Amino acid sequence: MTVSIALFTQDLRLHDNPVLHAARAAADQVVPLFVLDPAVEAAGFAAPNRLAFLADCLADLDASLRRTGSRLIVRRGPTAEQTAGLAAETGAGTVHVAAGVSGYARRREAALLALFGDRLHVHDASVTVVPPGRVAPAGRDHYAVFTPYHRAWQQTPHRTVLGAPRVIRTPDGIGSENLAVSGPFSPSLPRGGETAARERWRRWDVDAYADVHDDLAADDTSRLSPYLHFGCLSATELTARALQRGGPGAEAFVRQLAWRDFHHQVLAARPDAAHRDYRTREDRWHRDEHEAQAWREGRTGYPIVDAGMRQLAEEGWMHNRARLLTASFLAKSLYLDWRIGAAHFLSLLVDGDVANNQLNWQWVAGTGTDTRPNRVLNPLRQADRYDPDGAYVRRWVPELAHLPGPAVHRPWMLAPEYPDPIIAPDALMVRMRAARELDAP
Ligand code: FAD
Repeated sequence: MTVSIALFTQDLRLHDNPVLHAARAAADQVVPLFVLDPAVEAAGFAAPNRLAFLADCLADLDASLRRTGSRLIVRRGPTAEQTAGLAAETGAGTVHVAAGVSGYARRREAALLALFGDRLHVHDASVTVVPPGRVAPAGRDHYAVFTPYHRAWQQTPHRTVLGAPRVIRTPDGIGSENLAVSGPFSPSLPRGGETAARERWRRWDVDAYADVHDDLAADDTSRLSPYLHFGCLSATELTARALQRGGPGAEAFVRQLAWRDFHHQVLAARPDAAHRDYRTREDRWHRDEHEAQAWREGRTGYPIVDAGMRQLAEEGWMHNRARLLTASFLAKSLYLDWRIGAAHFLSLLVDGDVANNQLNWQWVAGTGTDTRPNRVLNPLRQADRYDPDGAYVRRWVPELAHLPGPAVHRPWMLAPEYPDPIIAPDALMVRMRAARELDAP
């Protein structure tokens, strides 16, 4: 009887899972394994919101595996050591794992390789649609600009979508651990797991996406990001299904999935972009902990910014348009270091992802891949454009709910109890521009 290990990481699903598929093809029996690695915690990445979501994902994966005759084995400790221990215990000959892009995922893979050598099989199109490095401009290891990347991404063949296995045989008598999580949690977190993810995808209307994705009050984007982050859904399967459906909504949605791949290929080539400027502009960031804290707590005096920050605290998730304008407010208007904002997002976002979070922050801060790094999003203009009736602000800033229509965006005269703007409206653009121009040769 041969045995293989399917080591689950950011692919917590049965459908379209190349790791599970290959592990099943390689042996008579499969040990589905997830390791709770203290290195993730040590790196400050084990935020309570994400751990709560992960606990749902693991419970759902275990329930689905049990329906195939198998179950999920959970172990705690350094991943490579735990996997080697389990291989010795079960006589497993091969280990299958998805390729990751973060520094942590690379170290994990190197440690597994050192212990398993050619018994380790790394599957590269599990997390992204197009594996990082598969497309690159001549003489470079990655694309630094999205538009040409997107063109190349569209022209690259995507792998075939795999079905979910019906039967998985697993050796008996293997011990497993539980994941205990403790808060504080955001009060309105989504439920994790492949079942919830597939339900959300079935219920959501992709056709309207092109028209509504920037409408803050409509709140009608897919909300699939946490499921994509933990791999409860495969980006390859979503892309194939959306392309099959066709139309402007599906096309716009697939473009966003290409953005996800784009950031992954940047991080894979430049893992230090998680912490260092991708393209430094030698910023001399303004320092003010009082301003940073007002931003975190949603009391900057700009209701549209405060609404976004309060949605983040309540749901562990924020609308993309609100992420853009709250991030721009921190990094461009207040001119505080983007790492301060990125760290706060990562402490709460249930979809918090090193590639997508850090590189979107860098894009907004002008240290990343934006070809117009000096662009500043004026929060008042953003509010008028993407929350024209003020409904998003009234939803998240209840103390302003009595203000009608767009008046809610400028409460200075109408709601004297609301905090004064932390930076005067006519000074909004000045700090970053002045600092960068002073720095210019
Ligand atoms: P939809 O609009 O339905 O898009 C579908 C999917 O495409 C998303 O689920 C996501 O996987 C992907 N996607 C959409 N926009 C982007 C983008 N700009 N970059 C990369 N992928 C994208 N996304 C994360 O998944 N994790 C993060 O930690 C994260 N941090 C961000 C921080 C900032 C400052 C900004 C501006 C954006 C960030 N994003 C992040 C990207 C984007 O805001 C979210 O993916 C999106 O809001 C999730 O909602 P949705 O699933 O409804 O997206």
